[in-house]
Amino acid sequence: SPSLACATVSRRPLRNGLYIARAMSSHIVGYPRIGPKRELKFALESFWDGKTGVDELQNVAADLRKSIWKHMADAGIKYIPSNTFSYYDQMLDTTAMLGAVPSRYGWESGEIGFDVYFSMARGNASVPAMEMTKWFDTNYHYIVPELGPDVKFSYASHKAVAEFKEAKALGIDTVPVLIGPMTYLLLSKPAKGVENSFCLLSLIDKILPIYKEVLADLKSAGARWIQFDEPILVMDLDTSQLQAFSDAYAHMESSLAGLNVLIATYFADVPAEAYKTLTSLKCVTGFGFDLVRGLETLELIKVGFPRGKLLFAGVVDGRNIWANDLSASLKTLQALEDIVGKEKVVVSTSCSLLHTAVDLVNEIKLDKELKSWLAFAAQKVVEVNALAKSFSGVKDEALFASNSMRQASRRSSPRVTNVSVQQDVAAALKKSDHRRSTVVSVRLQAQQKKLNLPALPTTTIGSFPQTADIRRIRREFKAKKMSEIDYVQAMKEEFEKVVKLQEELGIDVLVHGEAERNDMVEYFGEQLSGFAFTSNGWVQSYGSRCVKPPIIYGDVTRPKAMTVFWSSMAQKMTKRPMKGMLTGPVTILNWSFVRNDQPRHETCFQIALAIKDEVQDLEQAGITVIQIDEAALREGLPLRRSEHEFYLDWAVHAFRITNFCVQDTTQIHTHMCYSNFNDIIHSIINMDADVITIENSRSDEKLLSVFREGVKYGAGIGPGVYDIHSPRIPSAEEIAERINKMLAVLESKVLWVNPDCGLKTRKYSEVKSALSNMVAAAKLIRAQL
Ligand code: GLN
Ligand code: ZN
Repeated sequence: SPSLACATVSRRPLRNGLYIARAMSSHIVGYPRIGPKRELKFALESFWDGKTGVDELQNVAADLRKSIWKHMADAGIKYIPSNTFSYYDQMLDTTAMLGAVPSRYGWESGEIGFDVYFSMARGNASVPAMEMTKWFDTNYHYIVPELGPDVKFSYASHKAVAEFKEAKALGIDTVPVLIGPMTYLLLSKPAKGVENSFCLLSLIDKILPIYKEVLADLKSAGARWIQFDEPILVMDLDTSQLQAFSDAYAHMESSLAGLNVLIATYFADVPAEAYKTLTSLKCVTGFGFDLVRGLETLELIKVGFPRGKLLFAGVVDGRNIWANDLSASLKTLQALEDIVGKEKVVVSTSCSLLHTAVDLVNEIKLDKELKSWLAFAAQKVVEVNALAKSFSGVKDEALFASNSMRQASRRSSPRVTNVSVQQDVAAALKKSDHRRSTVVSVRLQAQQKKLNLPALPTTTIGSFPQTADIRRIRREFKAKKMSEIDYVQAMKEEFEKVVKLQEELGIDVLVHGEAERNDMVEYFGEQLSGFAFTSNGWVQSYGSRCVKPPIIYGDVTRPKAMTVFWSSMAQKMTKRPMKGMLTGPVTILNWSFVRNDQPRHETCFQIALAIKDEVQDLEQAGITVIQIDEAALREGLPLRRSEHEFYLDWAVHAFRITNFCVQDTTQIHTHMCYSNFNDIIHSIINMDADVITIENSRSDEKLLSVFREGVKYGAGIGPGVYDIHSPRIPSAEEIAERINKMLAVLESKVLWVNPDCGLKTRKYSEVKSALSNMVAAAKLIRAQL
C-alpha cells in the first residue's frame, strides 16, 4: 500500500554540512476555480453567448487548473486536490458523475456533455434550470439534485479521473476529491411528485455502485488517495442518518482497499455523536476538521482520536481574507501532535479556499499596511506550507518574524481600534434591549394619521432598473470624468423620472430608485470608516457570478450622513411619502469579510450604531417612512440549531438598535429576500418593525403560518405579489388572485401590496407593465373591501 507518510523527520546531511528535516505534510481542501481575474467567468459567458467555442472554454479551464496545481506544487504542498475545478458547481458535477439528470433535459445515456450540463445549470430555450440553493452557510450556491425512485444512475461523467490524469501528465500527483455520498444525498431534494413521500437516503444502495466504479477508475489511473467531502457531518444528523453514514463507507470498503482515504468535514465542528461515527470508520486513513469554526473539535480529539490515523488539521481559514497568525497555529498543531502522535498531523485549510478571494498579488489599490494583514487563497497555500515546514524544525524564521510583525501591527493599529466606538458600543449595550416604547398597533395608528394611506397600500422594495446609462454616469463620476454638479443633476433627473412614473402608476409609498448605488452593501461600506474594498477580491457565488465582499478591518464609524442628501432631494419631488432606504447591520455584516479579532456581534453592533445615526438624521430631515433592508438576516443563521438562538438574539437586537429611538409616527419598514423563515418567525416579529416586506412569490403555502403570526403581532406585512426574478409580466387578475389568497389569512388592514424584491435587474418595459397591473389589482380589491 502506498506510503501515508508524512513527516518522517529524516535528517540528511546537505553538502554544506547543514541538516534538513523533512517537512510535516500539508494539504489543501480545495481551491477557487474562477481565476485570479475571473478568467473562467469571462470564458463561460463568452461561450454561453456563442461568441467562442468549446475549445476556447476548455483551454481557459485547463490553463487555470494547471496554474493552480503548479502553484501548490511549487509551494511544497504534499496533498494537492484535483476535481475541485468545476465549470459551474461541484454538486452538479456529482449529479453528472452519477447520471442523475432529470428526465426533462432529454438525456438518456453516454457521457454528459456541455449541453446537458449547462441546461441543468441555467435552463435552455424550452426547459428551466434546476433549483439552486446556498451551500451550507456560505454565499456559494449549488444546483440541487432532484432525486426520486425512478432515477437510473450510471457513471456518466469521467471528470474526476480526467482531472487526475491531466495533473499526472503535468507531473503532479493529486488527491482526487469527490463529494461524499451522504452529503450528496442529504443535500438533494425529492423529485416532483414524490416531494413528501420519498426518503432520499433510500437511494444510497443505488449510488454506491457508481462511486465504486469511479474509485476503480481512479485506482487504475494511479490514484493513491481519495478525498470525500462530507460537510454534512457538521449538521445535526440523527442516529439513523449516522448509521447510514457508517453503512455507506463500510459498503465501499473493498473498493477503497489500496487507496488512502480522507474524509473532510468543514464549516463547523462535528457534533460528538457524529465524531464518534466518523472516527470509527475502518477504511479511512485520515480525517479532516475545520479548526477555525470548529471550536469543540480540539476537545473531541483530546477525548479520543483513533490510533495510527492522520489528522488533517484545518488551521488556515478558508472563509476569510486575514493572514494566519502562524505562531498561534503552530501552538495548536503542536498541541494536536501531542495528542495524536508525531507524524500524524497534516496541516490543512479549514475548508476549500473557494470561499475566499483568489490572489492578493492583484490588489494594487489597497494600501501597504492593510495588505500586509491579508492572505487570499494563493497566500494561504504558502501559509499552510510554512506551518508544515516549521513543524519539523525547518522554520522559515524570516517569514515567521514578518508574520508576527504584521500580526502585531494589526493588533495595535489605530485604524483598527477606535476606543470611543468601543466605549459607545459597550455603553449602548448596557442600557437596554432597545425597544420602541409603544407597541406596534398603536404606532401604526399614529402613523396612519400622518400618512393617510388607503387600504392595501402599494409600494416597491427600493431599486428601479439600473440602466446602462445610470451605470455609465456612476462610473464616470467615480473616475472623476464627471463633475459633482453634473453627477447630482443626472441623478436628480433619474429620481424625477422614477418619482413621476410611480405617481402616474398610482403607487402610494414611493422610492427614489437607488440609482446612486452600485450595491446595497458596498454603497454604505464606502461611506463608513473601518471598511476597505479590493479590486479583484472576487468570490464565486454561483456559476459565473461572483461577489466582491468589502473587508471590515476596523471599528466602524459614520463620519457623515450617507443618504440624507439624496432622500431629502427625492422627498421634495412629491407629496407622497418617500421611503428612506438603508441596508441593515446584519446584512452589511453577512455580506462582508468580517474581522476575526473580535466577535461578529460586536462588529454588528458597531454598524448598527452607525445606521442608527443615519435613521435619526433621516427622521430629522422629514423622512417619515424608513426602510432598513435585512436581506441577509436568515442566511447568517448558524448551521447548528444549538447556536441559532444566540445568533438571532444579537442579530435582531442589532436591527432594533438602528431604529428604537424614532417617534411613533415614523414608520420603519424592513425587507427580507427569502421566505423560508418559518423557523425564525419569532425573531422576525422581535425585530419590531412596523411593516415587513418579504419575498413570497415562489412559495405560497409555506408562508401561511408566518402570516398568521403576523396577524397576532399586528404589524403591516407585504408578501411579494409577483416574482421580480423573472421577465414574465403577471396579469392584474393573477395578482388580484394572489392578494385574495393572502386576505383569506390576513386582515386587510395589515396587508401591503408590493413586488417581492428590488427591480434593479429588470427592464423599464417590464417594470411599467408589472407595476401597473399590481396597482390595478390592489385597486380592484380595495373596491371590494
Ligand atoms: N432595497 C434593495 C433593492 O430594492 C433591496 C435589495 C434586496 O433585498 N436584495 O434593490
Ligand atoms: Zn429582496
